[in-house]
Amino acid sequence: MAEVELKDVSPGKNLPAASPVTPTSEDKTVGGNEAGSSAATSPAAEPSAKAAEGSRGLLTPNAAKMPQASALKHSDTQQNGGEAFVNRDGTVAEAPRMKKIQFADQKQEFSKRPSKIGRRSLSRSISQSSTDSYSSAASYTDSSDDETSPRDKQQKNSKGNGDFCIKNIKQADFGRREIEIAEQEMPALMALRKRAQGEKPLAGAKVVGCTHITAQTAVLMETLAALGAQCRWAACNIYSTQNEVAAALAEGGFNVFAWKGESEDDFWWCIDRCVNVEGWQPNMILDDGGDLTHWIYKKYPNMFKKIKGIVEESVTGVHRLYQLSKAGKLCVPAMNVNDSVTKQKFDNLYCCRESILDGLKRTTDVMFGGKQVVVCGYGEVGKGCCAALKAMGSIVYVTEIDPICALQACMDGFRLVKLNEVIRQVDIVITCTGNKNVVVREHLDRMKNSCIVCNMGHSNTEIDVASLRTPELTWERVRSQVDHVIWPDGKRIVLLAEGRLLNLSCSTVPTFVLSITATTQALALIELYNAPEGRYKQDVYLLPKKMDEYVASLHLPTFDAHLTELTDEQAKYLGLNKNGPFKPNYYRY
Ligand code: NAD
Repeated sequence: MAEVELKDVSPGKNLPAASPVTPTSEDKTVGGNEAGSSAATSPAAEPSAKAAEGSRGLLTPNAAKMPQASALKHSDTQQNGGEAFVNRDGTVAEAPRMKKIQFADQKQEFSKRPSKIGRRSLSRSISQSSTDSYSSAASYTDSSDDETSPRDKQQKNSKGNGDFCIKNIKQADFGRREIEIAEQEMPALMALRKRAQGEKPLAGAKVVGCTHITAQTAVLMETLAALGAQCRWAACNIYSTQNEVAAALAEGGFNVFAWKGESEDDFWWCIDRCVNVEGWQPNMILDDGGDLTHWIYKKYPNMFKKIKGIVEESVTGVHRLYQLSKAGKLCVPAMNVNDSVTKQKFDNLYCCRESILDGLKRTTDVMFGGKQVVVCGYGEVGKGCCAALKAMGSIVYVTEIDPICALQACMDGFRLVKLNEVIRQVDIVITCTGNKNVVVREHLDRMKNSCIVCNMGHSNTEIDVASLRTPELTWERVRSQVDHVIWPDGKRIVLLAEGRLLNLSCSTVPTFVLSITATTQALALIELYNAPEGRYKQDVYLLPKKMDEYVASLHLPTFDAHLTELTDEQAKYLGLNKNGPFKPNYYRY
């Protein structure tokens, strides 16, 4: 692939702007993560024809393949409580016998609150985004011996700057190594940095961010800085911060307010420290879950006068933006990056294709060859799971409600069945439907001994785990995220992650997947920041198709992939611009 360089383009050149998405009940979109689908998050926008006037620059794969949309600017309770349980007939019973072995490395679930509650208690509950966005965080520098709250510490980096609040600045070197490792798998951001040398498309941008603070986010933040932005950052999740990465960022001069194991009060305090600063006001928001946006709306509504746009990544946050828009309260343009095609493909299909095996192996050490597996739902996630298991030699059955997906399953060589037909014989049950109560107590009762049950779909609704909390069943925690649920006759099923998302609970998200998201976020910020007055109104937009294509093209060199270019004749024949977009918005990839 030809080296990408920054190019000027003349104003008015065919630059497709994102158009607002008006959600309709038909526009069903499944979120790029487990928070589930929402009719409100519909990726249906067609780039506006009269886009683009006044764009001042473009970030381009090469002179011939210019993603014109990417305008750049040059100078400007389901925890095992052990208490009472509600029987299936509605009566309250005493707790089932439960043996639970706690492992030292047991991951804390995002939905759990920290035990230490902070000084002030703020009204709103902890980040919803914590359940619908990814983090590959795994902080290996354990600082649990240091009980002092970062808020009570006075720390400075080696240059004497103390405008940050993190666990321990001394961990910076560890964090730097993590960031360098992440950079290897984030080729697009590294390419953006190179291509933006000299060009500063985010010069003057003051980005306030609230995302997972991990090595991958650090690569994004350092890219934004290389493109000219100033950043202040808080964590969107109280557990996902990699302390050593936060330290490396603080050492590098970033204003970071985050540590692993924040209390709810800390969470909001950190967000506040990002926005409530003398002499600094954000003009761009990068949010994951909508908490930062919510905070500014609630506490500093006047700040929106200077804010040029919001970029939101999570299903929950996007949903909130649509609600604001519907209520006529959205006062700046917002970009929904969750529903961009490239991100969705990676989150749903490719990531799940790998993490289903990883999640199952890590928790159960199961051998896949010859095992009978039923996958409920043959959408993107289901297709990924089925492909992976088939490749491992499993015998895979599929259940579907939609005849189109059902036919696809048949054509791909899977047996389409009703769950009841195979439930007695299968070794593994995987839900991927985005639906609720797909596996219910009747199914669980009929499963064979040692059947593994897990969910890759929507939050924790797909398997009716609550129905297993009855007195006659014994729960035994055998490993972190692995429960044996034992019937009176001795039959046991192996329930993973208590029905929550297997891969998010028991596996990691590859950096390459996060690279797609981070690149999408960076381009969305660039687009909103540089958009000429009037291109975007106070509405929610999808990333323009050309930018989506550009995100993909920036990842191609990793594979030494060689993209074919349309000839003039071919472009004319297909009615396409040689530089894209190559597909209409309704195209299904
Ligand atoms: P999708 O809409 O493409 O696929 C879901 C499929 O399930 C559809 O084909 C639908 O017809 C089918 N279905 C619905 N109810 C069913 C039922 N009762 N029985 C059998 N099939 C049924 O959605 P998707 O992109 O595959 O995502 C599915 C879910 O996974 C969503 O909740 C999404 O948020 C979540 N998700 C999880 C991850 C992860 O990392 N685990 C990643 C992305 C998305």
